[in-house]
Amino acid sequence: MTTTRARTADEVYCVSCGRPIPESAAFCTHCGASQSPGGQPPPPHYASPPPYGYGAPPPYATQQRYSVHGRDKWIAVVLAFFLGGFGIHKFYLGKTAQGFLYLLFFWTFIPWIVSFIEFIIYLLTPEDVFRAKYPYS
Ligand SMILES: [Zn+2]
Repeated sequence: MTTTRARTADEVYCVSCGRPIPESAAFCTHCGASQSPGGQPPPPHYASPPPYGYGAPPPYATQQRYSVHGRDKWIAVVLAFFLGGFGIHKFYLGKTAQGFLYLLFFWTFIPWIVSFIEFIIYLLTPEDVFRAKYPYS
């Protein structure tokens, strides 16, 4: 037996490797080469992105996530947790009026409860969303 068999009636030869493939196949079943140049999606085994450092940078480049110039989520989280009752996190986030309100009523312990809820909200907010929500003015 030879490795290369003759094509049957419903088969065509691959434009790339020359081996017989089904006529309806858009891509070679042996080498994956596209049989009709242009306008076809990449073959399955080429679908995964190339490894890092190969060709163009990945489309999900990280600079997009952190391009928003905003306040740091983790600073706000720490401030809300430890100094939330004094509204320090509000001052940090640029909400000065709210900060003074917290400061004025810290002895009622209500700001402590509110700031603890805010601490949880900050914690659950993705960093990029947080930066977008609290940009530097
Ligand atoms: Zn082929």
